[in-house]
Amino acid sequence: MTLLDDLENVSRKKASCSVAEIIKTLNAQEAKALNKALDDPDSSPTNLAKILTKNGYNISRQTITRHRNRYTNAEGCKCP
Ligand SMILES: [Zn+2]
Repeated sequence: MTLLDDLENVSRKKASCSVAEIIKTLNAQEAKALNKALDDPDSSPTNLAKILTKNGYNISRQTITRHRNRYTNAEGCKCP
């Protein structure tokens, strides 16, 4: 790994977070359901993280919160 490689990986990581990576692997119906749950302010990030992890998608509550905040504040991820 060179410094250049590392720096390119940094910006690549910013472009999409783990939530987006998981959504990419789901089928259309699952992706729709997950997006719905993510956009539902009443759904708990802790529960979502538990459900996803239980089904083999290792993700933290913090990552889900970051993804959920992507439109609303500076703490959000950089997903489109
Ligand atoms: Zn995201």
